[in-house]
Amino acid sequence: MPTFISILSFLFVIGFGYYSQDVYTIQRKNMVQDQLKARDIVDRVTLNAMLKVPRHHFVPDNVKKYAYQDTPLSIGKGQTISQPYIVAFMTQELQLKPDDKVLEIGTGSGYQAAVLAEIVKEVYTIEIVESLGLTAKKTLSTLGYQNIEVRIGDGYHGWKEQAPFDAIIVTAGIDTIPQPLLDQLAEGGRMIIPAGSPNAMQLLLVKKKNGKIKTQERLPVRFVPFVRGKN
Ligand code: SAH
Repeated sequence: MPTFISILSFLFVIGFGYYSQDVYTIQRKNMVQDQLKARDIVDRVTLNAMLKVPRHHFVPDNVKKYAYQDTPLSIGKGQTISQPYIVAFMTQELQLKPDDKVLEIGTGSGYQAAVLAEIVKEVYTIEIVESLGLTAKKTLSTLGYQNIEVRIGDGYHGWKEQAPFDAIIVTAGIDTIPQPLLDQLAEGGRMIIPAGSPNAMQLLLVKKKNGKIKTQERLPVRFVPFVRGKN
């Protein structure tokens, strides 16, 4: 009988695997419907990317069951993965095109980078906390993302060797927009960045047109602080 029992437990494990997969898929569909479409996310490519990226793979085991809830979650080292709506809102604001090259400052879990990588050709992302950057790198390669490069360091200086960027997204709150990021934005480029004082922060949409910078306040937000490296 041991073979019968082992076959049975094998089928159970496989079955359970499928079941839990399905639960996350259903939760993800509900997230897109109830948190994104029900609000003001209308951009097709953004909605498709949010439907595709398995957010539960980007959060620690103890919070996996909350992965698709309408909230940011702790990813360790005092940092958070943003609320799904904020990820979608920022992505939509960037008006991305398939051939775009995008820079992200604040890799965190790597989730936002994965959402971007579903839409554009190349994503460059910088994380200042080494352990988070390394974990994100591992998650992204396990999931098969080949168009994302992760660098450890202070994103204040951008990524000069890869500039200019069609779009830049900053996922940590800063008082004023770093000049190197403005310099590394391509002509016609868009940047979304949480800026201002911690209790009056706004997501700013920045556009470069004919070499001139135009800034618009888009949404009041709260973000973990942008920290500066030693160099
Ligand atoms: N985009 C992330 C959310 C990250 S929270 C996600 O999808 O999970 C903001 C991240 O910015 C944190 O991981 C923090 O360590 C990082 N950060 C803060 N200051 C930074 C800096 N100067 N350069 C690069 N990363 C920074």
